[in-house]
Amino acid sequence: MINKSKLPNVGTTIFTVMSALAKEEKAINLSQGFPNFDAPTKLKALVAHYMKAGKNQYAPMQGAPELNQMLSKKINHFHGASIDPFREITVTAGATQAISNAITALIHPGDEVIVVEPAYDSYVPSIQLCGAYAVPYTLQAPDFKINWADLNRLFSRDTKMIIINNPHNPTGKVFSDEDFQELIRITKGTNIMILSDEVYEHLVFDGQQPRSVLSYPELRERSICTYSFGKTFHATGWKLGYVVAPPEITQEIRKVHQFNVFSVNAPMQYAIAEFSENLSYFEKLPDFFQTKRDFFLDKMKKSKFQPIASEGTYFQLFDYSQISDLDDVAFAKWLTKEHKVATIPISPFCTKQTNAKVVRMCFAKTEEVLGKAARKLAKI
Ligand code: PMP
Ligand code: GLN
Repeated sequence: MINKSKLPNVGTTIFTVMSALAKEEKAINLSQGFPNFDAPTKLKALVAHYMKAGKNQYAPMQGAPELNQMLSKKINHFHGASIDPFREITVTAGATQAISNAITALIHPGDEVIVVEPAYDSYVPSIQLCGAYAVPYTLQAPDFKINWADLNRLFSRDTKMIIINNPHNPTGKVFSDEDFQELIRITKGTNIMILSDEVYEHLVFDGQQPRSVLSYPELRERSICTYSFGKTFHATGWKLGYVVAPPEITQEIRKVHQFNVFSVNAPMQYAIAEFSENLSYFEKLPDFFQTKRDFFLDKMKKSKFQPIASEGTYFQLFDYSQISDLDDVAFAKWLTKEHKVATIPISPFCTKQTNAKVVRMCFAKTEEVLGKAARKLAKI
């Protein structure tokens, strides 16, 4: 019945594949990025409270007003930017929908979008669904740093957008001030938009502060920033997030948003707004996750897996070349079946062939689980 697939090269996402294999093999699941601990008790109680209090009908299209206001306050606190809560913030069904909305609203057939890869796997299909082209800029192991002059060479007359992800999934790299200055330099005088996916904004380590394109006025005027409450509240199953963009761009994004979802989950929005009044919750996140990263790295010292420094996110890359010559997908499957630890290969995050012998492990787990996984991996 289907004459022509709109996404002929797309299969099932690697997250579904590896989580299903982990379940089948009864393996420890360090693959798909989600915590094995729960959202804060007080936040869950607030969701129950707002449900009982009758906040169960459609929220306003752009988000519950209390939440938009809280987010504006939070952005001001962390990034020093003054953002209009009602004209520049839209609450979405997770960051995935925010990204899809933004690309659908802003990208036309024939446009080119530069994608820094390895990249979260929703970006490229969203671009392709618009009849546009993803132009990959590939980060190289082991330092995965952007060479801005090389990236600049990919610009063409058709370039409409660059997608960056900071802190970066899966490499754990975080932008320095110099990276932002380079981004300002190469986009100055162009009409190129920046889609800055900042879902891990609070997960930065070793004394760094969260940094956003929103702190840089020259970038802010051309940027669309996406965020996920799933990451910040250990509640990936809630599928709630938001998108921040200048009013003119927000207006276009909402034209799409109002017809593909209209508005999202009301009681959780009111609960998050109230819970977040105390911004100290966000300030504690870096230490909370750094402790897990350091614990896991310490336990993994006994293994032949070589860590590649993670400066942010809740992911740690490991080079496995001392263990196997298998390609990363085959290795991740072998590891799940034979050693009962599921990881994520990074080649599915790339449109170009990569031979890196690297897998990603998620350390958003209890110490008990991290310790158990490290003991299994150290036996190889
Ligand atoms: N961007 C990146 C870089 C991610 O890792 C994820 C995955 N969680 C998302 C976007 C999507 O977030 P959400 O679950 O809120 O849709
Ligand atoms: N962002 C998560 C990861 O990178 C998973 C998201 C998903 O399963 N779609 O693992």
